[in-house]
Amino acid sequence: PAQLTRAESLIAITPDFPKPGVLFRDIGPMLQDADALRTVTEALTAPFEGGFDLVAGVEARGFVLAGAVAATAGTGLLPIRKAGKTPQPTASVDYALEYGVATIEAAGDLTGRRVLLVDDVLATGGTLVAAARLVEQLGGEVAGVAVVLELTALGGRERVPDAHAVFAA
Ligand code: 5GP
Repeated sequence: PAQLTRAESLIAITPDFPKPGVLFRDIGPMLQDADALRTVTEALTAPFEGGFDLVAGVEARGFVLAGAVAATAGTGLLPIRKAGKTPQPTASVDYALEYGVATIEAAGDLTGRRVLLVDDVLATGGTLVAAARLVEQLGGEVAGVAVVLELTALGGRERVPDAHAVFAA
């Protein structure tokens, strides 16, 4: 529909950021537009309605989208943090980046919770696979994975086959 097309047009594309050769997609302008933010938040959530009671996002842009989805759906929110920011983490997952490794952490007991994972971009899928493992370490069940934009050339879908992507490029 027209509202989704308009929202997609508000994703900015910048060549050679953060380093040469990378075509960076920025959802910043989309977030600043009230209609686009509402449209995309609803599109992220629609396939999973009623199937989750907690929304998780990895910092930093995942936080923003997870917050919007949780507020819209009336669920709780789990901000998944990068290493060293959680005083007493009860779960920790290391994962490979293009160069080097990263660690995400969280605290709490998610036993019996059905968790929707949200992020802005599905690239290689490493971040969302790590986030899913973290949720499971905490005792939760991953109810779904939703992203605003899938970068198909980077192959993330092979690692996160059931991901729901609002847009693909
Ligand atoms: P992954 O390769 O793990 O799927 O993506 C790594 C992280 O970098 C994810 O949180 C993803 O949102 C982010 N990312 C990868 N490519 C882009 C991009 O072009 N734009 C933005 N905003 N984030 C990206």
